[in-house]
Amino acid sequence: MEMVNRLAIILTPRRRFVEWINTVSGVPKQLHYDDRSSERAVYLVVGPDEADLQEIIEQNWSDLFAAELAKWSEDEGEWPVNRTAHIFRDWFEIDVVDWVNDLDDHEPFTVAELSRTRCAACDALLDDDQIVVIARADEGIERWDRTRLDRWEAERDGRTDAEDATDEAGAVPRLVLRCCSEACAERMETAIRHANEGGEDE
Ligand SMILES: [Zn+2]
Repeated sequence: MEMVNRLAIILTPRRRFVEWINTVSGVPKQLHYDDRSSERAVYLVVGPDEADLQEIIEQNWSDLFAAELAKWSEDEGEWPVNRTAHIFRDWFEIDVVDWVNDLDDHEPFTVAELSRTRCAACDALLDDDQIVVIARADEGIERWDRTRLDRWEAERDGRTDAEDATDEAGAVPRLVLRCCSEACAERMETAIRHANEGGEDE
């Protein structure tokens, strides 16, 4: 077990947020107020030694508010226009916990880290011989090796969104799937082809 250098901010929707969720277009079913705890969320931040709720809210409310709204609608036109720290507190119950520990500290901590270490198809640990299946934005499918992916990721991290947009847009990877074997790579390619053909119609 590792003690984590973060505070946990726990948000529980209040009535106003539940009401807003129920006005968002495309939300499959209405969220009942009594079920609001199913929509709780935890955010980790590096905080001051003495966790002062007021200060933590001041520093983070804007990012937290945006993250919560974006879960329900990417269209900022649907977001409340008038967003302030005060309204944030009106929409969420906020708890801060400063005793944060990681029981599984030998496992990858982030989902991105996990996808770098485990096969996308079968979850096996990956080695350097992994096969990288790339689903491109134009629906093409490619295979890369580890070296090419590392190079692409390093370049991407140094690039701005504007530079990304001018890149040959269609050839940009939309999905990167690391696979442990030929069989797993083929499984993923089949799944991508299926999704490209509108597999969601099933
Ligand atoms: Zn596999």
